Amino acid sequence: TRTHLHEDNPHAREEDLKKLLERYTKTFTITPQRLKMITDNFVGVLEKGLEEPEQTVPMLPAYVFGWPTGEEVGSYLALDLGGTNLRVCHVVLKGKGKFEVTQSKFRLTEEQKQQEGQLLFDFCAECLNTFIIDHFGDANGDVILEEEIALGFTFSYPMQQDAIDHGKLIRWTKGFGNPNTEGRDCAAMFRQSLEKFKVPIKMTSLINDTTGTLIASNYVRQDTRIACIFGTGCNAAYMEHIGNIPKIKSLGLPDDEDMAINCEYGAFDSFTHEHMAEVRTKYDEYIDLHSNKPHEQTYEKMIAGLYLGEIFRLVMCEMVDEGSLFLGQNTYKIEKPYSFDTAFLSLIESDPTEELLTVTGLFTHFFGLDTTIVERKFFRELAKLIGTRAARLSSCGIAALVIKMGYLEEGCGVGADGSLYSKYPGFADRLHQALVDIFGEKGKKIVTYQAEDGSGVGSAIIAAMTKARKEAGKY
Ligand code: BGC
Ligand code: MG
Repeated sequence: TRTHLHEDNPHAREEDLKKLLERYTKTFTITPQRLKMITDNFVGVLEKGLEEPEQTVPMLPAYVFGWPTGEEVGSYLALDLGGTNLRVCHVVLKGKGKFEVTQSKFRLTEEQKQQEGQLLFDFCAECLNTFIIDHFGDANGDVILEEEIALGFTFSYPMQQDAIDHGKLIRWTKGFGNPNTEGRDCAAMFRQSLEKFKVPIKMTSLINDTTGTLIASNYVRQDTRIACIFGTGCNAAYMEHIGNIPKIKSLGLPDDEDMAINCEYGAFDSFTHEHMAEVRTKYDEYIDLHSNKPHEQTYEKMIAGLYLGEIFRLVMCEMVDEGSLFLGQNTYKIEKPYSFDTAFLSLIESDPTEELLTVTGLFTHFFGLDTTIVERKFFRELAKLIGTRAARLSSCGIAALVIKMGYLEEGCGVGADGSLYSKYPGFADRLHQALVDIFGEKGKKIVTYQAEDGSGVGSAIIAAMTKARKEAGKY
């Protein structure tokens, strides 16, 4: 039996939780004023990244030149190594912003994220090979391709590139830790795996998911100027005038052309933790210090899908320690790091039943814990606080790009993707509200929308753009 604090006095229990909620509301609420300050500092950080190499927010030239015409056509393969899954796609571009996609998805295990780097690329090559045999093989499993199909590889980690088909991994993010990969050319490592498994495919472009999303979204919606990912990790890409990228002046690329920049702004406020010091909580710090990359990806760790469930879990654990939650129940399951998935926060926020029965089921089924209705209502408010903080902070990066590029007067489209954006209830609305908090009414002209599949379709379009550029003898 349960010996809850004020267990048999629902009213007193409600009062207790109300006080706790007030405390957490203070902890997680971000005022418009604070959003503006963070955004202002963010602008300076983005500019710095363009000026000098090796900055915290590295503003990486992506070697994708200008917008697609919308008339790109052909058959392409795309490989997408994201934070959670590996996907192989066959994309047929039909022009006029139309396309068809066939795909296979494999969930990555924790072991695969930590094993020797070359083995991870071996796994990519093997999955690709299986896909090709399944889709293009004859009865004997022999693959005879009429024409060489180009492959675009979407590798969603910070890469230093000096051409579209090479990229040195700067550092792993999103909990990956595969040894002997950082600092190395991932394209070369992947090609080695392709050879090992005799995969008859040529990788022609190596891109980030945000860059793919930028191009795919613009392919179908020409007012797209920025693309963001709010998924396991967070990041954005946009199109920059080459003349405004001082750090690559020496390459002698034409100043009047444009190039996509992968901002890697999930790294905002890394190492110094100066720009978000006032809003950073002890839970953020705990997550940071217990991660495999302490002090890195500070912004990302406060807003991305990999971490929100963990923030929620840490608050629950704190309450358990204080004796204000789950008293007398066995809490070992909830004490396990990362056991509380961010998808649970989505569920808690969207439970349609008055008694919050979905939440009841979630706690009994996954954690063997009983909850009362007042506790479930408290959880719902707590999820709201954490989800809202994430969405509001997410707006700062977009706002900073808008300011930097002067997009506010005309307004612009922002293609957005990732599990938080597409699945977390209210995320987009909260983000839009925060943009209004920053910019006033004008903020309404910055409109985010569900992007096209950047890592699949975007990758294919970029492969097509790259081919056309090569044929024209351009860089
Ligand atoms: C990576 C980025 C990526 C983002 C979204 C971040 O952790 O560093 O390269 O775009 O996650 O997937
Ligand atoms: Mg992805």
